[in-house]
Amino acid sequence: MRIKRLRLTGFKSFVDPAELHIEPGLTGVVGPNGCGKSNLLEALRWVMGETSAKSLRGAGMEDVIFAGTQARPARDFAEVSVLADGVEGDDVLEVVRRIERGAGSAYRINGRDVRAKDVALAFADAATGAHSPALVSQGRIGAIIAAKPAERRAMLEEAAGIAGLHVRRRDAEAK
Ligand code: ATP
Ligand code: MG
Repeated sequence: MRIKRLRLTGFKSFVDPAELHIEPGLTGVVGPNGCGKSNLLEALRWVMGETSAKSLRGAGMEDVIFAGTQARPARDFAEVSVLADGVEGDDVLEVVRRIERGAGSAYRINGRDVRAKDVALAFADAATGAHSPALVSQGRIGAIIAAKPAERRAMLEEAAGIAGLHVRRRDAEAK
């Protein structure tokens, strides 16, 4: 799976619609302090199903919505869309996550309303997702080095693309 395009509206500092095309190979995000580099990576993790507000540097999930500045009023919603090649490389996958104040998150895959779990599975099977080792955020290298064996095993399982199997097993055991 290859991520090709990211679109953001009202997500953190990206109040106006922004679109990024991600070319093949390694992508680095550079710019002055506070310009939104980490916010971009967080948008990618968020649309792939991140459930921890804390790991997005917020107290609650609504903190991802543009909170307003002296010049501009706050927004009522945030929306992020990611376009990727499917697992086979040819089928296209568009995932959209939207959050509205007081209404929580809603997800769509290729225009269809889906559950958060469907999004998590779509990315887990492709060995990517909100916790993908392919997304190297600030402090991540240190976290990998300092991880306990069980945590490191979870990272390796995600990299190997078998994390989705664990989700399905937990699901099956719960039934
Ligand atoms: P550094 O180089 O210091 O790591 P960075 O480029 O990673 O900086 P970010 O942390 O992505 O910068 O962006 C920080 C900016 O995003 C701050 O100005 C902060 O006020 C703004 N910001 C974060 N959340 C929101 C929000 N909900 N609404 C509006 N602005 C926000
Ligand atoms: Mg940063």
